Amino acid sequence: MKAAIYQGNQRFSVEEVPDPLPGPGQVQIDISYAGVCGTDVHGFQHDKVPPGTIMGHEISGVISILGDGVTRWKKGDRIVGGGGTHPKGMLSPAFTMPRLDFRKDGFTIPQPQGYAEKYVMEEWAPLPTPDNVTDLEAALCEPAANSMRTVRRSGMKPGDFVAIYGAGPIGLFCLQIAKASGARKVFVVEPTPIRAKAAAKLGADEIIDPTTLYRDSTRSREATARTSFWSVPPLLRRFNRRCIPCGVTDEWCSSRCPRIR
Ligand SMILES: [Zn+2]
Repeated sequence: MKAAIYQGNQRFSVEEVPDPLPGPGQVQIDISYAGVCGTDVHGFQHDKVPPGTIMGHEISGVISILGDGVTRWKKGDRIVGGGGTHPKGMLSPAFTMPRLDFRKDGFTIPQPQGYAEKYVMEEWAPLPTPDNVTDLEAALCEPAANSMRTVRRSGMKPGDFVAIYGAGPIGLFCLQIAKASGARKVFVVEPTPIRAKAAAKLGADEIIDPTTLYRDSTRSREATARTSFWSVPPLLRRFNRRCIPCGVTDEWCSSRCPRIR
């Protein structure tokens, strides 16, 4: 099969490699689509992934080979590549570590993943794709589920005012989920014009460019953006509103905020 292999120093090469074959209790998947996760982007940007890695965990596809003893799938079943329930004792570090910061810590992937034509998974790992969901849509399941969990854990209720910092892929999902969950108004704070435009298209009620909030020519855009972030919790407290940062690293967030992890 063909695979995009990370070579280190922000380089990928597309190479022919042997097809991964399923062992007992595993399935081989013909990949239809593979999303590019922020985790993979960070691994690439900060060169934190070992050379030789085949990344990509946001996939959809079709079961192509069953390993010995597999009972829950048949050849041709359409799947989303993840979200299945871990058997007891097999929880991933993402569930057990208090905080996993891929940007600083990097990550290793023991087996080839989705930037390839085929992917082998444990049979418990994938979920079935419903008939009314296309393979292209199904590849967005992981980031959509991530965003859904973020909005749920924020404790947002219908009628609430919501502020979303950052209109990247996850922020844009959170915007749509907050709107669909009955947010009264969603403010999106985003300095990049192309992302701000996407937020407007997806229903943001107001878009705020943080670099214009506290104009100070002696500060960099980054420093200004940080100042505006830190100023939000005390501001909200003044109006007796809650601030619940979601998906924010420690360096960006005041320790006085309740934290969603
Ligand atoms: Zn992901």
